[in-house]
Amino acid sequence: MKKEGSNKKRLFGTNGVRGVVNKEITPQLVLKLGHSIGTFLGGKKFLLAYDGRLSNIMLSDAMASGLIGVGCEVYDAGMMPTPALQYLTRKWKMDSGVMITASHNPPEYNGVKVIDGDGIEIPREKEIEIEKIFFKDAYLLSEWDKLGNRIPKPGGLDEYKASIKIQVDEDLIRHAKLKVVIDPANGVGGLVTPYLLHELGCEVCTINSNIDGKFPGRPPEPTLENISQLCEVVKACNADLGIAHDGDADRTIFVDEKGIAHWGDKSFAIIEDYYLSKNLGKSVVTPVSSSKAIEEIAVKHGSKIIWTKVGSINVSRKMQETKAPLGGEENGGVFYGPHQPVRDGAMVAALMIEIIAHEKVGFSNLVKKLPLYFSAKDKIPCPENLKEKALEHLLNKSKNQKNETLDGLKIWISDKSWVLIRPSGTEPIYRIFAEASKEKDAHNLVREYKTIISGIIEKLR
Ligand code: MG
Repeated sequence: MKKEGSNKKRLFGTNGVRGVVNKEITPQLVLKLGHSIGTFLGGKKFLLAYDGRLSNIMLSDAMASGLIGVGCEVYDAGMMPTPALQYLTRKWKMDSGVMITASHNPPEYNGVKVIDGDGIEIPREKEIEIEKIFFKDAYLLSEWDKLGNRIPKPGGLDEYKASIKIQVDEDLIRHAKLKVVIDPANGVGGLVTPYLLHELGCEVCTINSNIDGKFPGRPPEPTLENISQLCEVVKACNADLGIAHDGDADRTIFVDEKGIAHWGDKSFAIIEDYYLSKNLGKSVVTPVSSSKAIEEIAVKHGSKIIWTKVGSINVSRKMQETKAPLGGEENGGVFYGPHQPVRDGAMVAALMIEIIAHEKVGFSNLVKKLPLYFSAKDKIPCPENLKEKALEHLLNKSKNQKNETLDGLKIWISDKSWVLIRPSGTEPIYRIFAEASKEKDAHNLVREYKTIISGIIEKLR
C-alpha cells in the first residue's frame, strides 16, 4: 500500500494493486477490495481470471467472495494472460473484468488489475472512488438472498487465440515455415503463444513453458539480461526468432536469428513501419519516453505521433479517444488497435512472424534498417516533498531550450538528442532517460543531468 503526496493513503499503483503475498496482499485485503470494486462499479457481471502464481487460487477465491458478497455475478474464466481477460471482458459483454496478477514482479508478489467493460484498465478517477469506499469501509453488503453467484466460463483461451489468427495473414505465415523459440518465463503466456504459432504453421520450440509460480526458469521480467538462455537456444536451434513474454504475457521481447536480444523500442519501430506502410497517415500513440526513431518512421509515412504520459493505461485511453490504431512502449508493450487497444503479447508475436514472412529477411536485418539511436537511463533519489520544486527549478534553468512538460520534463538538446527527467509515481526517485545518435552522447547526457539535478536538490534541502 502506498502513500500519495503527504499522507493520503493509496491502494492502486501505476498498474493495479500490487504487493508481497500475505504481507501486503492478503486474502482479507482482496476480499474487502472485491466488496469495494463491486459496490462502486455496481455492474452485475464480472469476468475473473488469474495468472500462474502460487497465490492465485487463494486470491481469486477471496476476490470472487468479495464480489459475490455485494451481489455481483462472477464468471470464472480460469488461468490466462491478462490481454486474454481484457479481450474476453469486451467480447463477452461483461460489465467489468478482474485479473489476479503481478505481471513482471518477482514470484512472491501478486496483485489485482481492474478492467472496464471496454477491456481497458479503469481510469485513475475510478480507482480513487474505489479507494474511498475501501478505506471508509463504505461497501454495501447484500442481503442473504441477494448474493451473487460464481459461474464457470470455459473456452476463453480458444476464442482469444482465434481472434488473433484473424488479424494476421495465415497463408503467408504458413508458407514461410519459420522456426521460433518461445520463452514465457513459466508464466501464462505458455498457454497461448506456443499453440497459436504452431497452429499458424510455425515450427515451435519452447523453454520455460510449463506453468510454475516459482518462476524457476528465469525472473518474470523479460529484461535483456534475464533472457540470455533464450538467446543461446535460438542460436543452438538455428531458429528464425526468439520470443520472450513477461509473467502475464502482455509484453514481448524478441531475439533475432543470430541470438541477439533487442529491446522493445526496436520491435515497436519495426511493427510501426510495417503497419504504417499499409495504412498511410494513421496516427501512432506513444509515451514521451519513446525513441525519436518512432517519430521519424511516422513522418516517413505521413503520419503523426500523439505523445502521452508514461503508463500503459495512458496509451490505451489516448488511442480510444483519438481513434489511433497503433500504440507502443519501449518495454515491449505494443497496442494493436485492430485487435484491441491494450498491450497484447501473443498478438504482437503473431504480427512479428507475419512481418518476417512478408519481408523475407531475418529480424536482425529489420533492426538494421531502423533509424539508429542509442538510449541510456539512470535514477537519482529525491525526497517526495522536493520533487515538484526541483522540477520547477530545472524547468527555469532550461527555459531557453526546446522542452516538453507532458510528464516530467523532456529537454531537446538537438534535433537528434533529448533527455527526460521524470519523478517516479511510486518511489522517492527521479528517473532520467536520454537518447542520442551516438552511444556515448546518451550516457554523457544522463551523467550531466544527474549532476545538475543533484545540485538543485542539495540547494533546496
Ligand atoms: Mg505484464
